[in-house]
Amino acid sequence: MATCNECRQFFQMDENPDKGDCVRRVVDPRQAYYKAKPVDAEREAGDCPDFQKKS
Ligand code: SF4
Repeated sequence: MATCNECRQFFQMDENPDKGDCVRRVVDPRQAYYKAKPVDAEREAGDCPDFQKKS
């Protein structure tokens, strides 16, 4: 199963590689913006609809 650290939208913390931020670009009809939230690197990504595998 994939984890967040395999996702293109995961940005690892320098101080703690087990943690990072999930930063997603959200586009709605009026604007585009970024949404960030802290996640664990090993978080299960299988249930995440926004998972994008790193190329
Ligand atoms: S929560 Fe989803 S979109 Fe965010 S880093 Fe994890 S898999 Fe990617």
